[in-house]
Amino acid sequence: MTPSQTPTLDTSTIRIIGSEDRHVAHNYHPLPVVIARGEGAWVTDVEGKRYLDLLSAYSALNFGHRHPALVAAAEEQLGRLTLTSRAYHNDQLGAFAEALARLCGKDLVLPMNTGAEAVETGLKVARAWAYRVKGVAQDAATVVVANGNFHGRTTTIVGFSDDPQAHDDFGPFAPGFVSVPYGDAAAIEAAITPQTAAVLIEPIQGEAGVVIPPDGFLREVRDICTKHNVLLIADEIQSGLGRVGETFACDREGVVPDVYLLGKALGGGILPLSAVVADEAVLGVIRPGEHGSTFGGNPLASAIGLRVVEMLASGEFQTRAKALGEHLEAKLAELVGHGVTGVRVAGLWAGVDVDPARGTGREIAERLLGRGVLVKDTHGQTIRIAPPLVVRATELDWAIEQLKLVLDA
Ligand SMILES: *Cc1c(COP(=O)(O)O)cnc(C)c1O
Repeated sequence: MTPSQTPTLDTSTIRIIGSEDRHVAHNYHPLPVVIARGEGAWVTDVEGKRYLDLLSAYSALNFGHRHPALVAAAEEQLGRLTLTSRAYHNDQLGAFAEALARLCGKDLVLPMNTGAEAVETGLKVARAWAYRVKGVAQDAATVVVANGNFHGRTTTIVGFSDDPQAHDDFGPFAPGFVSVPYGDAAAIEAAITPQTAAVLIEPIQGEAGVVIPPDGFLREVRDICTKHNVLLIADEIQSGLGRVGETFACDREGVVPDVYLLGKALGGGILPLSAVVADEAVLGVIRPGEHGSTFGGNPLASAIGLRVVEMLASGEFQTRAKALGEHLEAKLAELVGHGVTGVRVAGLWAGVDVDPARGTGREIAERLLGRGVLVKDTHGQTIRIAPPLVVRATELDWAIEQLKLVLDA
């Protein structure tokens, strides 16, 4: 690393990072930068340095930092009502649910907060559906998942993760999950038994490094699920809501899952807001009192979520992601063989495998930080690029230029 690329930290940065290190549990290893402001695709640190944000809070910031339409929706609702719990009705949830159900082409929405809660909710719904509709014997239901999955951090979910960091030392784990290789439809079919309630799958595996399954895989899985009377649950928490140049990653193959799991960008980068979306025949199995959340469906999150859905309904962000993604893909392809060993791109979302001779993913991310570009490494040698969908092509070009420079350093 040359001096010009070394992040030079001033005293306020060191002090803030120091107090975080002393008093915040060490469940993350953040890059050494302290962000104080954000606007669109850009953030500013406490020293006033600007950075292009190519992580977008793991796609929770698809619309960028403080999108004016989303801030306006939040501010308007802050002045009226923020929380009621579901003990009462509020005047925002119905409109949000109606708009989201329409966007998904489904009947019902079950609102939660975090992505992991949406996954847990989807699993509960699938099990209840298996017992009450499919006729599976009590406590016998199974769910087929994929190797390399990431569905969140709760104890049930990490139980079927094969990432040792996510999984080890957190058992005992809930039974009822079978994991098969990702992208292998035949392996899914072989794992299905009369007790199978659902197949839970990421249409593209984000945390695994933007791993895209073979063409036709999702369509095959759809057919297999239909044939065996098994629910197809698509975890679109990271892949959905415009990221891949379509509303959902399933749209790339014209596939409609039985259940959508949504989160991250649904809250507009302002609040945690997640949802399970499905038809009455599936989500209708949940009866009053069987599931809930104090904050789920709160009016503030609903007002923001409604605006998010309205923004997606125009198709403008999907079109933008598709065009910018093609641009990004062409630029990244030029790097293969020049410090990059592989690139996977879907819409405005890329996994870039860095040649170990040029450094680890973490080292590349740190050097990019020194040049004003924020990315995050995943699984050692991969860096993930997921800019806000409001980024400009010229800004992407500049960021790729910085990547070239740090790879050659
Ligand atoms: C982030 C993520 C989750 C978990 O969401 P949280 O809001 O962090 O709980 C689940 N599934 C996928 C695919 C994700 O990317």
